[in-house]
Amino acid sequence: MNPVALITGASRGIGRGIAIELAKIGYDLVINYARASEAAEKTAADCIAEAKASGKTVRALTCRADISLSEDRQRLVDFARREFLRIDLLVNNAGVAPTVRADILEADEQSFDRLMAINVKGPYFLTQQIARWMIELTQRLPPGPEYRPKIVTVSSISAYTASTNRGDYCVSKAALSMLTSLFAIRLAPHGINVYEIRPGIIATDMTSGVKEKYDKLIAEGLTPINRWGTPQDVGRAVAAIAQNLLPFSTGEAINVDGGFHLRWL
Ligand code: NAP
Repeated sequence: MNPVALITGASRGIGRGIAIELAKIGYDLVINYARASEAAEKTAADCIAEAKASGKTVRALTCRADISLSEDRQRLVDFARREFLRIDLLVNNAGVAPTVRADILEADEQSFDRLMAINVKGPYFLTQQIARWMIELTQRLPPGPEYRPKIVTVSSISAYTASTNRGDYCVSKAALSMLTSLFAIRLAPHGINVYEIRPGIIATDMTSGVKEKYDKLIAEGLTPINRWGTPQDVGRAVAAIAQNLLPFSTGEAINVDGGFHLRWL
């Protein structure tokens, strides 16, 4: 039986990169998305093909659900339970940036509420629900080589880097660092490790509108590893966790940012 991962926001971008890397190592997948069903179906088909090319057979199913809505989260969990009967890895990846970058002296509550609902409330309560299911499973499948459930949350360098023209995004990502600490402590006695991944500047739809700005900053030496990151870079970090390569680490923040977080002289 393959291990099973549920990835939120896996139709495009980083979530898609994570799904493909997990498929290559033999994970069955629940590919969640909010709107773009064609992209999600393509990700699922590509996951199956990439797995096959790596000598694995996996199932990859899509499930539309808005993670900011309680009834949608319930439907997503019910879908995973019904289709796969087990869960080994939750990847809280779905997230949105503000539609308009506005100075914190001007920004409105509507944008703040939207970001908090999708970027924070969604992963917080989905983690709660999946963690309960994982605990239930550990009672049936004792933790060990057979069942080592894990939770990964994709935050951002914005968890600690202040951008005053998108304060709501920064606050939402900082909250995910605390989410990681809280669940890491609470779930350690159950053998469930919890990780945060902090991507840097990654080429996706989210950053396409600011491509020129970041091209310039990267060319000027913003990051020691002097290039854009890719969804695959993040996918590989999640795959390392998924393969249990960090068994004595929990609550850990893993920077996938080309060294952006380093200070140097
Ligand atoms: P993206 O290309 O805009 O993709 C966003 C994904 O999230 C899509 O699959 C989208 O589904 C899904 N989504 C959006 N709202 C949702 C909701 N309410 N419920 C369920 N799914 C939802 O973004 P990305 O760049 O891959 O970013 C993925 C994560 O990485 C986000 O949390 C983001 O904050 C974080 N991140 C990104 C960067 C970067 O440079 N790109 C850097 C640091 C952190 P649909 O296709 O259906 O719309």
